[in-house]
Amino acid sequence: MRTVARAGWVRRAISVAGGPPRVCWDEGVRSRWRVKPGERVRLADIDPGSTAGAPGGRTETSAALPALHVALADLQDRLWAESRRSLLVVLQAMDAGGKDGTIKHVFQGVNPQATRVTSFKQPDAEELKHDFLWRVHRAAPAAGEIGIFNRSHYEDVLAVRVHHLVPDRVWKARFELIEWFERQLVHGGTTLVKLFLHISREEQRRRLEERLTRPDKRWKFRHSDVEERSHWDQYRVAYEDALTRTSAAHAPWYVVPADHKWYRNWVVSRILVKTLGRMDPKYPQPMEDLPATIE
Ligand code: AMP
Ligand code: MG
Repeated sequence: MRTVARAGWVRRAISVAGGPPRVCWDEGVRSRWRVKPGERVRLADIDPGSTAGAPGGRTETSAALPALHVALADLQDRLWAESRRSLLVVLQAMDAGGKDGTIKHVFQGVNPQATRVTSFKQPDAEELKHDFLWRVHRAAPAAGEIGIFNRSHYEDVLAVRVHHLVPDRVWKARFELIEWFERQLVHGGTTLVKLFLHISREEQRRRLEERLTRPDKRWKFRHSDVEERSHWDQYRVAYEDALTRTSAAHAPWYVVPADHKWYRNWVVSRILVKTLGRMDPKYPQPMEDLPATIE
């Protein structure tokens, strides 16, 4: 009964926000930021401060979020109950790009039991003894789950490339391996959504400075953040190649303008609600011989 009541609430929340077309079925923002397969990505041409398609400024756009949270929770409930398919959300960004904040804000309404978040750090000694996809495959979501990757196998063509951790021919071969790996996940019932949170160099400076000045953010500061920032252009080129080479119909990349956190949260929520809505997960049929009452 709980879920039936909640579904009703979802419909009401959606209609408060302006009717189902706005929340669930408008393709606009999703197709606007999707990297079409074969299209060459030039990040300089995409404004990190864009708020295109938003219902308004910060206040109006943030006000549209609760309905999306409810819709996401409802879809996740169905996905979990159906327990046949899964969703994998890959988050990549420059340092301070907002991966942690996106996870905290966009997924605040979801059921933790049906969600698996994995943060990929520098590979440890054991991971280094295996192929680069070994640790990634183990973290892939099981049937019914939403998997969230905070960084991912893409670091193996990004950080690894920028820091020359392997010979060029090794990381170059990985684009094709990644394509086949992702095909394998899709074949197994996983839907992939890959999100690149796109911030400007100036916004990164602002956020890193905030990590120095705000007592509640200082714990996040790493000297490596400043080191990595000096490789901004190399990372940009590496990202452009990765997005261009690996955005596919079965595993699309989205470039999400992320200088405005409120816009980023809204776009990511929209993409996820739309993607799950298209998957259309269904509650399983109840058993045929359900008793009418419980003694
Ligand atoms: P953070 O996400 O801020 O905790 O930082 C994690 C660090 O691990 C980042 O500097 C990443 O570039 C790095 N990292 C993650 N995966 C890999 C990888 N496969 N190879 C090298 N560095 C990695
Ligand atoms: Mg960091």
